[in-house]
Amino acid sequence: MPVFDSRSFKNHEQVVFCADETTGLKAIIAVHSTALGPAAGGCRFWDYAAAHRKMAPSDIAEQRGEQDAIYDVLRLSRGMSYKNAMAGLRLGGGKSVIIGNPKQLGNDDLMRAFGRYVNRLGGSYYAAEDVGTSPAMLAATAESTKYVCGLEGVDFGTGDPSPHTALGVFTGIKAAVKHRLGKEDMAGIKVAVQGVGNVGRTLVKHLLDAGAHVRITDIVDANIEATKALGNVTVVGLDTIHAEDVDVFAPCALGGGLNPKTIPEIKASIIAGAANNQLEREGVEDEDLRQRGILYAPDYVINAGGIISVESEVYREKLDESARREKILRIGETLTTIFKTSDQSKRPTGLIANDMAEDIIHKANAAKFSS
Ligand code: NAD
Repeated sequence: MPVFDSRSFKNHEQVVFCADETTGLKAIIAVHSTALGPAAGGCRFWDYAAAHRKMAPSDIAEQRGEQDAIYDVLRLSRGMSYKNAMAGLRLGGGKSVIIGNPKQLGNDDLMRAFGRYVNRLGGSYYAAEDVGTSPAMLAATAESTKYVCGLEGVDFGTGDPSPHTALGVFTGIKAAVKHRLGKEDMAGIKVAVQGVGNVGRTLVKHLLDAGAHVRITDIVDANIEATKALGNVTVVGLDTIHAEDVDVFAPCALGGGLNPKTIPEIKASIIAGAANNQLEREGVEDEDLRQRGILYAPDYVINAGGIISVESEVYREKLDESARREKILRIGETLTTIFKTSDQSKRPTGLIANDMAEDIIHKANAAKFSS
């Protein structure tokens, strides 16, 4: 199974394959870069073979699942390097994946076994919560390693990152509205929010407070009801949210929503939301959006509020609330720089952000090795 040849491999410093016979743990930890500091990124627990089981015999499905897991961990860890670099953090980029169904396998023994592997990396990787892992599961991991962040009720703990992510997304939307529509405030701006979970719901609150007109959708009725309780929102269809006649489309559910099927239907002139990996293919969909005159706020830049919040926990520093807020609000300035560079160079915003992030990382590496 190719790693160095994988299409998502890009100068990763270290990739560790972990197996524990007793607990059935199968995991991969990818440290993309430690140029700016310890690599930080979530631990994803996912049954990668599930999508292949309907089409292939089980051994082939498992192999294909492992291939997907390698692709995912390489791509996501690089994304964390770029996100942390663009947010001006003292953090590198890493990610881990545990292969399997978390409901069947995700017990404390397995999470502790995973922690022993994280521990062996000696602090070059800090694990955090991600899809399929919970604060309770990470607490079990923390029994065998101190290199875990985003824990609740511990010294230096920074708590739930999602309100900070939502503030960053709101700041980013305002920057995009100013750049594309020339409007200094959000009064009367129409926004369609896809997914009103932890981040989306808080984003809706910011938007309503600022006088925006908000349309929402979600697959979970309870989340829609909780959002309706915040104020005057319009509920629209799951399949049509991206095609609403609005100024801003804010994807806050899952990745991959910007693809050749959805893009021609988008009427918004701005796409700015929290979801990770919104573009199906980097450099393809963002170029398509650019050519259609749609301003795309690169996902890992606009959704960095949560990791900004976590930085002090990794360094075991006392949280400085105002410094954290200031860093989150800077997301707007970073996006404006990306938008202007994209306009001048006629290149997609996603590639501009990648270039800027790589430049920061290269400079940090050069400084590290010259000293
Ligand atoms: P969440 O699980 O709390 O919310 C996601 C919401 O999307 C849920 O309400 C879910 O029901 C809904 N949803 C799922 N599929 C949908 C669909 N097809 N159509 C409409 N709604 C759908 O997650 P979250 O923490 O709010 O994160 C939202 C997104 O932002 C995710 O992509 C996440 O990776 C990304 N993100 C989150 C953070 C954070 O701090 N939580 C940080 C960075 C990025």
